[in-house]
Amino acid sequence: MSSHKPPLHADTLLAHGGGGFDAATGAVVPPIPVATTFVRDENYALISDGHLYSRDDNDLFRKTENLLATLENGAGSRLFSSGMAAVAAVARVVKPGGTLMAQSGIYWGTTLFLREHCARNNIALVECDASDLATFSDELAITKPDLVWLEVPSNPYLKVADIEKAAALCKTAGALLAVDATAATPLILKPLTLGADLVMHSATKALNGHSDLLGGVITARDAKSEAWDLIKAERKMAGAVMGSFEAWLLLRGLRTLSLRVERMNANAQALADHLETHSKIEKVLYPGLPGHTDHTVAKAQMAGGYGSLMSVQTKGGKEEALKVTGALKLFQRATSLGGTESLIEHRRSIEGETSGIPGNLLRLSLGIEHIDDLIADFDAALKTI
Ligand SMILES: *Cc1c(COP(=O)(O)O)cnc(C)c1O
Repeated sequence: MSSHKPPLHADTLLAHGGGGFDAATGAVVPPIPVATTFVRDENYALISDGHLYSRDDNDLFRKTENLLATLENGAGSRLFSSGMAAVAAVARVVKPGGTLMAQSGIYWGTTLFLREHCARNNIALVECDASDLATFSDELAITKPDLVWLEVPSNPYLKVADIEKAAALCKTAGALLAVDATAATPLILKPLTLGADLVMHSATKALNGHSDLLGGVITARDAKSEAWDLIKAERKMAGAVMGSFEAWLLLRGLRTLSLRVERMNANAQALADHLETHSKIEKVLYPGLPGHTDHTVAKAQMAGGYGSLMSVQTKGGKEEALKVTGALKLFQRATSLGGTESLIEHRRSIEGETSGIPGNLLRLSLGIEHIDDLIADFDAALKTI
């Protein structure tokens, strides 16, 4: 008989918080390491390897990073103090004089940061609709970027770029491919397995899932790339490290990730199905709907659901959309996504009248409530228009 054991499922690894127990006490939950510095012995050797100064690393970072790298099928992960700190670390891989291509119509914070960062650092920024492969391929051939940034699914339009095809095109063009997969979570989308070089998540969202910490994570496919060396050095030297308390909360949040993702996906799919045929709704943007432009791609590259993010367009314009938003009792009017509570946002109010975002578009993040309560809340609010 073979001694080969199948690898444990992601749900199991998560439920055990990455596994193992404290060797000294047997505690099933790791302690929060608070020391910033570690002593040396009489011969000036470290008392314990890997314990030097806590901006470099600490046991809790390592444990959480190993768990996240395993979920992504990656070679290694690094935690950052926020999602944007992780975005910035990836962007800094492109040297002055280089070119960065970013998907258009993505997370507003990323777009704003990349525009300012590139302008200040003499980096050419090309914004391109990467869910249109023909356009993407043409732009890639013409602009020859050093790095391509995709967001899958994108926010707030829920476009789903074909990562496998994009990765093949990037490889031919000599560009690195980084994917922000925050809205999907590693449980339903694994960009590295599809050929991306780097995957990034805002851990502030579903990874932690409780709207109570800021964090980011980058995971690399290849342990030995120049880009990964730069990102690791960036974390250590530029110092955008996560706090130990946040890392501890994140690892605790991760224990229930698979349950939360299952429920959030189911809620999102059910609400999308319900609203799609509602008389007060013009359009539902959700990749789990067979009528969605990128449904075929989403179905092929996502497993177990289509995420907790969706946008809906109400009949009428901005006034009607804001009226519905104001009438909701359960959905909280707040930015962010991936928490246990459902949230709603009017993106045009945030990004401005010239943003091109339709005035009747509402972005929803589905939480883990009972679906009947969410549907009832929405139905009642839609009755006001
Ligand atoms: C929230 C978010 C970010 C930024 O993360 P922070 O943790 O807020 O800094 C980046 N990308 C996406 C898709 C996000 O939703």
